[in-house]
Amino acid sequence: MSTFQAPKGTYDLIPPRSAVFLAVRDTIATQVRNAGYGYVETPGFEDVNLFARGVGESTDIVTKEMYTLTTKGGDQLALRPEGTASVLRAALQANLHKQGNLPVKLWYSGSYYRYERAQAGRYRHFSQVGAEAIGAEDPALDAELIILADQAYRALGLRQYRILLNSLGDKECRPVYREALQSFLRGLDLDEETLRRAEINPLRVLDDKRADVQKQLVDAPLLRDYLCDACKAYHEQVRELITAAGVVFEDDPKLVRGLDYYTRTTFEFVHDGLGSQSAVGGGGRYDGLSEMIGGPALPSVGWALGVDRTVLALEAEGVALDLPAATSVFAVALGEEARRILFGKVTELRRAGIAADFSFGGKGLKGSMKDANRSGARLALVAGERDLAEGVVQLKDMESGEQRAVALDGVLDAVRELLG
Ligand code: ATP
Ligand code: MG
Repeated sequence: MSTFQAPKGTYDLIPPRSAVFLAVRDTIATQVRNAGYGYVETPGFEDVNLFARGVGESTDIVTKEMYTLTTKGGDQLALRPEGTASVLRAALQANLHKQGNLPVKLWYSGSYYRYERAQAGRYRHFSQVGAEAIGAEDPALDAELIILADQAYRALGLRQYRILLNSLGDKECRPVYREALQSFLRGLDLDEETLRRAEINPLRVLDDKRADVQKQLVDAPLLRDYLCDACKAYHEQVRELITAAGVVFEDDPKLVRGLDYYTRTTFEFVHDGLGSQSAVGGGGRYDGLSEMIGGPALPSVGWALGVDRTVLALEAEGVALDLPAATSVFAVALGEEARRILFGKVTELRRAGIAADFSFGGKGLKGSMKDANRSGARLALVAGERDLAEGVVQLKDMESGEQRAVALDGVLDAVRELLG
């Protein structure tokens, strides 16, 4: 072991588990690509104010969790804690919203950073795949995104997750509710920090995880009862569309989520096998965010799915993904001449698009065959001096154990035939 360890709250993705991570990312990406979302990649850090303003000054993300730094040139930057503000910033900067093609649909995949209390399922460096539909107010878009996330989890084989759905209202009805909630909260027995939060962002108090707080919130006014007609109608359409798609969800009138920018539709995917870090993904509508970061009015909706927790959820359910072996053919060379010839064959196979690997390191037959087994390859190419003298190599089926001699210039065809 070296003297260095991965920093607290981080971990390394290493084989074979790393293959599961890639498969999770791929599966989610497949769904959004298939629905017309284009790939966007933004820097790992941004002007700190993009997040302070965009994510909300009073959120945990901004007050406690952000990694900030001052550059040698004096710029104040933050490692990105989430994707939405960056993606919207990028879309505005490139004027994607001015090309008459709203909504602009984008997806992303990458690393995010939050200075959190590290524990299982909660890390300081984690991965998300996200999707954003920018510049349209259409309940079918909210529905599309919820259906796509559901489809991604389903395609992975997850079953024990639930979809929680709520509406947070808009700038018409939320202020009225906010006031009602505030006067309710002021009458409760809450600690000073929570009371302060009740003044700045009362909705977030509903999200408090502590049982003694939750007990006091049983009779809290619900936004559901304050929604204006437009928000009610919008929400009803979202519910109808996802119901018609056969997606099962639960209405959760207390779901508020951690970011300040959400309006109307909010949702969370929770997995019941993950203990307290149960949210595997979440999202919602953010009609006011563009204006908050200096852009025009661009009603938008999106989600971010946590790759780390999705992998944990797969493990909790005991789902083994059907991952094809990385290697199809493994070449075992005995002796210098065989090494030269078989190394050439491996290159030839790879150029033909067949996944092939080689017994590096000059091992003997036993060690090399062990490597061949470990690689998961369907076929082994084995050759020693005697084979080469006859102008052949041995092609072994690793499943059946069957072996036959193949002429050197017939290897590619024979391999193709056996792999089907
Ligand atoms: P939580 O309530 O668990 O803190 P969040 O509301 O902060 O989650 P979002 O900002 O909505 O999470 O991010 C979307 C997804 O990213 C989450 O559902 C989760 O799967 C994942 N995620 C968020 N923070 C972390 C973290 N620190 N470590 C691992 N995954 C995370
Ligand atoms: Mg959080």
